Amino acid sequence: MKTEILGVQFDNLTRQEAAQRGAQLLAEDQFHYVVTPNPEFLLACEKDPVFRDILNKADLVLPDGIGVVYSAKILGTPLKERVPGVEFAEDMLACLNEMGGRLYLLGAKPGVAEQAGANILERYPNIVLCGTRDGYFRDEQDVLLQVAAARPDLLFVCLGAPKQEKWMARWGAHTGAKLAIGLGGCLDVFAGNVERAPESWQKLGLEWAYRLKKEPRRIGRMAKLPLVLVKAAGARARGKKQGGEG
Ligand code: UDP
Repeated sequence: MKTEILGVQFDNLTRQEAAQRGAQLLAEDQFHYVVTPNPEFLLACEKDPVFRDILNKADLVLPDGIGVVYSAKILGTPLKERVPGVEFAEDMLACLNEMGGRLYLLGAKPGVAEQAGANILERYPNIVLCGTRDGYFRDEQDVLLQVAAARPDLLFVCLGAPKQEKWMARWGAHTGAKLAIGLGGCLDVFAGNVERAPESWQKLGLEWAYRLKKEPRRIGRMAKLPLVLVKAAGARARGKKQGGEG
């Protein structure tokens, strides 16, 4: 079942349900892609209908930020829970490990994908790391050829939004991968360059605050986020008026 938030159709699933669905997609013999929108995506979509369309055509649309979960609540259509991209990625790695499948890591600064791959293999030794490539390239098609030659089952695309979603929508089906996931800064986390917030902060919905504490330069980006809540409140108020409730 889908839940619409400011024009983006989210899958309303728990982390466990998302993992089950992801495992099914990974087992099927065709290409699928998963997106993990946070509030910044929702604002970007307002100005970029192509991006919104790509998100809405994804096989799974998972709510990555607490701002998305709050927006859903404000709209009167609460989501079951936040499903952070990095946690969904962990679940897919566990699944790939059981299959003994092939993983390709695309994105981040030079050297980061290799380090992330080495750390992943320590924890998931049955995975075959079939390739890595940094995310600072000019020729998209050249990257496609490299990825396709590596024959991955699972592909992490970590180029930041909307670049990663546009790359997956344009080239993903030609990679031969069964599942591609757009994962923003996750390779930096897997490489150990960026820490996630402690669980207590995550439970309080304060992961964004922890990130801000660690990376104060993100203040400009984050300052826009309450705007998503305001827009959700506006949409709710308009909906009520149209529905004759208020
Ligand atoms: N990145 C990239 N190519 C680019 C721009 C960004 O590979 O042309 C990488 C960047 O190094 C970082 C990730 O994409 O690892 C995006 O990180 P960001 O913090 O924007 O994503 P978030 O974690 O907020 O989703």
